[in-house]
Amino acid sequence: MNLVLFGPPGAGKGTQAKLLMQARALPQLSTGDMLRAAISSGSPLGLQCRGIMDRGDLVSDEIVIRIIAERLDEPDCATGAIFDGFPRTIGQAEALDRLLQSRGRKIHVAIELKINDEMLLQRAESRIREMIASGQVPRPDDTPETLRNRLEVYYRKTAPLIAYYRNQDKLRTVDGMGAIPEVAREIAAVLDSTA
Ligand code: AMP
Repeated sequence: MNLVLFGPPGAGKGTQAKLLMQARALPQLSTGDMLRAAISSGSPLGLQCRGIMDRGDLVSDEIVIRIIAERLDEPDCATGAIFDGFPRTIGQAEALDRLLQSRGRKIHVAIELKINDEMLLQRAESRIREMIASGQVPRPDDTPETLRNRLEVYYRKTAPLIAYYRNQDKLRTVDGMGAIPEVAREIAAVLDSTA
C-alpha cells in the first residue's frame, strides 16, 4: 500500500509514520529526513537546501521529486511506502502520481492530520524545551518564528492537497489533536477500511 501522510508542521507526521513503518512493514519516505541527511553529509545538495530549510521555506519541487524518484526504485518500496512530508505542493502530488503510474503503482490513501495552530505552537515550544533539557540541539527550523513561516507555507502551498486528494476520492482526515496512541489507532482504522 502507498499512503501519503500530510498535515501542518508539528502535527505528528514523523511520529505516526515511524509507528506505521513498524506496524505495516512499509518504508517511511521522509523528504525532510533525506534533506537533513544531505545537509549533515555536507553534499552540494545539502549546501543548496540548508538556507531554504532553515528559513522554513520549501525546497524546489524538482529537487524533492528527483530524490523521491530515486528512492522509489529501491527494492523495499516495491510493495508500498509511507510518504511523509511529500508531496507538499500540487506539482509534487502530480509528479508522484506519474512516477507511481509509470511503475504500475498508485497512491491508495492520503491521510490529512488535522490540528489547530495554537496546539502546534504549544507542541513546538514544549518540544524545544524538552530537547534543550535533555542536552539535544533543536532543529534550526523549530524556532517559534520559523514555525510561523512553515505554517504559512503549509496553508498556501500544501493545504491545496486536501482538494487534490478529495477529488481522487483518496482523502481521509484524522484528528491529530489526541495522544499519540489514539491518533495511531485512528490511522490504523482508516487503513484497515482502505485495504
Ligand atoms: P519536515 O521534516 O518534513 O518538516 O521538512 C523540513 C523541511 O525540509 C521543510 O520545511 C522544507 O524546507 C524541506 N522539505 C521537506 N520535504 C519537502 C518537500 N516535499 N518539498 C519541499 N521542501 C521540503
